[in-house]
Amino acid sequence: MPETFDVIVIGAGPGGYVCAIRAAQLGMKVACVEKRETLGGTCLNVGCIPSKALLHSSEVFDETAHHLAEQGINVTGVSLDLAKMQARKADVVKANVNGVEFLFKKNKVTWLKGEGRITAPGTVQVNGTDYAAKHIVIATGSESTPLRGVEVDEKRIVTSTGALELDAVPKHLVVIGGGVIGLELGSVWRRLGAEVTVIEFLDGILPGMDGEVRKQFERILTKQGMKFRLKSKVTGAAANATGVTLKVEPAEGGAAEEIRADVVLLAIGRRPYVAGLGLDAVGVALDERGRVKTDAHFATGVPGIYAIGDAIAGAMLAHKAEDEGYALAEMLAGQKPHINYDAIPGVVYTWPEVAAVGATEEALKAAGTAYKVGKFPFMANGRARAMGATDGFVKVLSDKATDKVLGAHIIGPDAGTLIAEIAIAIEFGASAEDIARVSHAHPSLNEAVKEAAMAAWQKPLHI
Ligand code: FAD
Repeated sequence: MPETFDVIVIGAGPGGYVCAIRAAQLGMKVACVEKRETLGGTCLNVGCIPSKALLHSSEVFDETAHHLAEQGINVTGVSLDLAKMQARKADVVKANVNGVEFLFKKNKVTWLKGEGRITAPGTVQVNGTDYAAKHIVIATGSESTPLRGVEVDEKRIVTSTGALELDAVPKHLVVIGGGVIGLELGSVWRRLGAEVTVIEFLDGILPGMDGEVRKQFERILTKQGMKFRLKSKVTGAAANATGVTLKVEPAEGGAAEEIRADVVLLAIGRRPYVAGLGLDAVGVALDERGRVKTDAHFATGVPGIYAIGDAIAGAMLAHKAEDEGYALAEMLAGQKPHINYDAIPGVVYTWPEVAAVGATEEALKAAGTAYKVGKFPFMANGRARAMGATDGFVKVLSDKATDKVLGAHIIGPDAGTLIAEIAIAIEFGASAEDIARVSHAHPSLNEAVKEAAMAAWQKPLHI
């Protein structure tokens, strides 16, 4: 008889490990299958955490080398020890992945080490051994999307995984794709001294985000020295020992030109990863984009098999995967949790940061929703002035008739932290007036959120 669990989760990323721990907290017998050497998935091992460690270190380096003099702090002889910076990043990752292993032990989640395959409804095979489960959760995440003609070797032509591991600063880094991952990692290497060129197929960076934010962000990154080739497509890449030659054409077609790079980062997006799971054989269907098809309760068409996180539709974000893992565990325990997908923030951890939650103006216009806009620039915020970080603004969108907050878009210092206030407002169905009437500490960056809400409701005070 195979060992039997209430729940077997396949994949120990933010979706899978959270689902496993929550299910165990609710009294279920739980196993989590993970083929990596460490727990935590893409996010902790090769995604959110190592990228934020390098973003932090490179920001401190750039600030120290180039901007402290503005504040009367003179530092000479600033130099980069990349090996040490990378070692620190590895330590940060280790602390996080070990933390998940500790939580598994604490909550009595069994880690089945190896590749999981669903051989029949209710059965998962790992290293040739069958395990039985009442519920199986697919949380196998995503992988970098390939591009025809651009062969990744993780040395000269890298995905985000290779870009986090470079052992020397490239002279010229070309990033294919002006999305979040490309711009974050492009920022890291620019701050450390690389010339960075971003090639983007569309006519602007950060597709899908607020149009005004996108334009201002491009201007700010350009001022920082990043170069952009928009409406351009890469049609081929040839790597040799000294670098890479890229073939680049206008997006609508036309004469190709060659661009030389020391390193090329392929960052055109991510796609669900379900290889080797045996989904075909058990009858779990995928949609047209290769995502596991689920209903609103994460159930696939096969009874007892569920899916969450990057492997299913929706934003490919760690906290979205976590929220789904947490909610699914509660559903399996008979509870009735709910996720508000309109209140899931998205953040770009560059300098300045970019953050968004809820609807964009573009989406509201397309839906024919009447809305109000309240904007407030950080230039008029005392704390931002004190910090010397006045680039950017807060934009709050609210319903024209009811004043209910529908979305917010922030570019500026600590935007990723500030956006949480609006996510809570949306979750609680607050109006712009509600935010405007809440006392916000002075002097704080949050006052820019309050003023933008005042502007959406009636009038801002400090501009
Ligand atoms: P994953 O984290 O991808 O985990 C899936 C796990 O399943 C993997 O460990 C894999 O080894 C395992 N697995 C797959 N198949 C099997 C199998 N058959 N058997 C056993 N194990 C298997 N998101 C944010 O919200 N904020 C950020 O700042 C952010 N930064 C990012 C930076 C980078 C460079 C990248 C690449 C991603 C970033 N993301 C960020 C996205 C985030 O990492 C993902 O949204 C998140 O990891 C998805 O979680 P998941 O649990 O669905 O899958």
